[in-house]
Amino acid sequence: MLRLVLIGPPASGKGTQAEVLTKCLSVPKISTGDMLRAARANATELGKSAESFMNSGLLVPDSIVIGLVEERIALPDAQAGFILDGFPRTVPQAEALQELLGRVGTPLDAVVQIDVARELLVERATLRRMDSRTGQIYHLKYNPPPAGVEVVHREDDREETVKKRLDEYDTMTAALLPFYSALGLLRKVDGAGSPQSVFSQLLSAIGK
Ligand code: AMP
Repeated sequence: MLRLVLIGPPASGKGTQAEVLTKCLSVPKISTGDMLRAARANATELGKSAESFMNSGLLVPDSIVIGLVEERIALPDAQAGFILDGFPRTVPQAEALQELLGRVGTPLDAVVQIDVARELLVERATLRRMDSRTGQIYHLKYNPPPAGVEVVHREDDREETVKKRLDEYDTMTAALLPFYSALGLLRKVDGAGSPQSVFSQLLSAIGK
């Protein structure tokens, strides 16, 4: 049983850690970004209301995402717990989550922040390359692509874009982290090491 919120900047390895955690603990990863993209692709009413915000890189209104999360965590597979990824992003979302989990008597166990120095994040993203055929990720310095593999530099991994995304992350967490810290729920893990070392820190942060 684990109810967890995972917070981390772009290129912090959050996605990788969330994948391993869901497999290891058999709880679903709930990503509001994924759910909203699916709703947009299926052109549902919700998808249509969210679309213009998403396309212009803005946050979708709290009422929409809160409703989405409320429905999702009521599903049977989330009764044994969940890992929230990309939600909450604002204090009103965090308050709503506290309220709705409190109502059903299943409070959060922890909020884990994967902490990585800004310079390292910029280096990771700007040196990251993707195999255009398979999606496999490489790093020009630490994990270079083998000869013959054609790689691309993703648009959102370019230095200026990365810096902008990091600024947005700092703005978002400026209020969110103190909120969870005041509730005694916040744990920090050092995301600078290997995926394995981050994972073992994560497990100890959540007492597993
Ligand atoms: P992500 O994949 O988490 O970066 O989310 C993609 C987009 O979906 C964001 O740029 C927002 O437009 C929207 N989104 C995802 N999660 C939230 C959230 N918790 N609050 C508001 N908007 C969100």
